[in-house]
Amino acid sequence: MYLNFSQKLNETLDGINNCAIIPHKNPDADALGSSMALYLFLIKLGKKAKVILPNSPPNYLKWMIEKYDVISHENNPEETKKHLLNSEIIFALDFNSLKRIGMLSKEIHNAKLPIIMIDHHETPENFSKLFLSKPEIGSTCEILFNIMKLINNEFIDKEIATYIYSGILTDTGSFRYPLTSGKTHNIISELFKKGVNHTDIHEKIYDNYSFSRTNLLGVALQKLRLISDLGVAYTILSKDNLEKYNYKKGDTEGFVNFGLRIKGVCVSVIFIENSEENIIKISFRSKDKIDVNKFAKKYFNGGGHKNASGGFSNDSMIETENKFVSSIKEFLGA
Ligand code: 5GP
Ligand code: MN
Repeated sequence: MYLNFSQKLNETLDGINNCAIIPHKNPDADALGSSMALYLFLIKLGKKAKVILPNSPPNYLKWMIEKYDVISHENNPEETKKHLLNSEIIFALDFNSLKRIGMLSKEIHNAKLPIIMIDHHETPENFSKLFLSKPEIGSTCEILFNIMKLINNEFIDKEIATYIYSGILTDTGSFRYPLTSGKTHNIISELFKKGVNHTDIHEKIYDNYSFSRTNLLGVALQKLRLISDLGVAYTILSKDNLEKYNYKKGDTEGFVNFGLRIKGVCVSVIFIENSEENIIKISFRSKDKIDVNKFAKKYFNGGGHKNASGGFSNDSMIETENKFVSSIKEFLGA
């Protein structure tokens, strides 16, 4: 599958000079890592490339783009248009539904360019000319590494390896989620040979809490509620909670995972009031066979992966909470 895709990609890139690379909105380390790795790889292939983000990354990932001229569509719509006009092809990385790139999807639609999608989410939409969709793989970075290796392993240097490591690290929950495989670890071994400094990457990504973010985590943990007979834990962060602790984008990343540390808990959920978009943003995490992707899709306009998904609600917080409590009971067959 990788071989076939790499050959087709090579053929598609033949004669093409200008590429645009787009990850999903609110990019995580897998989205940014795969985009930056592909960017550097395309440059090595002698192409021109531009990474266009639907919006800016959270502070803890700014190190991934600071050396490069990466565009945020939200901050710079005119420059985005200009670059799309110059581009001959678009890479869509770490998303498979145009909903996941917000307003940028309109620009892509207008640009009418061929799209190459590389992704690992379930149920891909049909918007690409060429795609590699592998929901059985833990990260887009792992998929991309395999593709780049087949095209030219020599071009994968320490910097590209660092981006790839970052995406694999975070999307596998530090190598613990079920989709982490022996093959994943083999890739990590190859990345070590390329010179990655894993300690430095872990520190950059995880040891970067501000004092107020640490306090906000305290609030989320204090407000944790348990439906013990269902093995469900959930917590809520209101607009007031966020404001009190000087919330910055990305601050709540990872909070939802703490519920799963409670013995017997198989589903953990966080509800976050997003006053900007006037929605309640929801993150779902689960263990084993419980499929929160299906749950998010069925009840909360969302999706993602079997054990990690997201969605949203347009109702009030209390209505959302009530809907969640009754729907999770129904879903788990209680
Ligand atoms: P998170 O909870 O970290 O925001 O997202 C977990 C996973 O669910 C990610 O892989 C993300 O792509 C997916 N996801 C998050 N929010 C949404 C959403 O509103 N719709 C869909 N389809 N997927 C989402
Ligand atoms: Mn991913």
